[in-house]
Amino acid sequence: MTSKAVIATTSSHSSLYNIVPGALEEGLDVYVVCFDRDWELWSQYPDLLKKINILRVNDYSDAQSIVRKLNGISGEIVIVPHGSFVRYLSVEQLKRLKHPILGGVKILAYEGDRDKNSGLLTASGITTPKIFDKASKIDRPVMVKLHGAEGGKGYFIASNKEDFNKKKKGKKVNFIQEYVSGVSIYAHYFSSPIEGRCELLGFDRRLESNVNSQYLAPNEEPSFTVVGNVPIAVRESLVPEYHRMGTDFVEQTGLVGPFCIETICTTEPKIYAFEFSGRIVAGTTVWVPNGNTYANLLWNEPMYMGKRIAREIKKAYESDSLELLTVDSPNLEEI
Ligand code: AMP
Repeated sequence: MTSKAVIATTSSHSSLYNIVPGALEEGLDVYVVCFDRDWELWSQYPDLLKKINILRVNDYSDAQSIVRKLNGISGEIVIVPHGSFVRYLSVEQLKRLKHPILGGVKILAYEGDRDKNSGLLTASGITTPKIFDKASKIDRPVMVKLHGAEGGKGYFIASNKEDFNKKKKGKKVNFIQEYVSGVSIYAHYFSSPIEGRCELLGFDRRLESNVNSQYLAPNEEPSFTVVGNVPIAVRESLVPEYHRMGTDFVEQTGLVGPFCIETICTTEPKIYAFEFSGRIVAGTTVWVPNGNTYANLLWNEPMYMGKRIAREIKKAYESDSLELLTVDSPNLEEI
């Protein structure tokens, strides 16, 4: 056993500004597979680079090289996934990694399948927007999501069936979901086997262009392309409900580690969860390094997601129980 816990990940916004700073703050050893595309940004931080091990890969889409680099790291390490990690590695490639992944692979497979994603929320007793498997069944305003669209790019709202047929032309429609009108609230959790609890660590909302702009020009279609995130403190009465949602989701799945439930809160107010992410998401970067209202009260110190991940890995490593963190959502079937 080496003297420090070790993590590995790939270069991304979440790893640079959240996972790696958290790991260093907790005294972990860090390996990062850094793509040439990201090197220009990473090399702006020479002090950080001095403290970590960088493994260069030319092309972010070269999954084989990423897997080879990660598998080439020796010793007991935990791989920490994030959004681009799961975008560039398929479920099959994730299964070829020889080192265990924080939270396992199954939850990432469910996350990536829109029907399974929504189905898992529903199975957890969480209210979700209605899904339309056929355009002919559309009977209300819908949010139309495209194949492979990231960060809301290209999504459109259709007010009815006719509007859908007009707007879908030339687009690869993947998912038709009831449009829920309200404020988007992203709730962030950490399911901790070490502490034996599901922690609600905070909330953010996304800034989306142009739905969050000052003004839409006449005839301008709304765009949900994500351009940033801001922290929020939510209405008092909603906090227990968000707590319950996280706990129910963990009970249903057996999930370990960070996850996010992505919701819209209506005028009632009623919470609809339109998606989950089974890993750290970019919105938690808004709390680095000072933490936030919810996480700091729980931990009596500044706490943010990257640090929370590292704290769990450090504690598990020190009690020789890393295997608790890499169990593969035992309540979920393989897909
Ligand atoms: P997504 O890529 O699924 O995370 O969605 C991108 C953005 O689209 C979200 O941040 C929401 O603002 C919006 N959105 C997604 N699904 C819905 C929905 N069913 N109703 C209303 N807005 C939605």
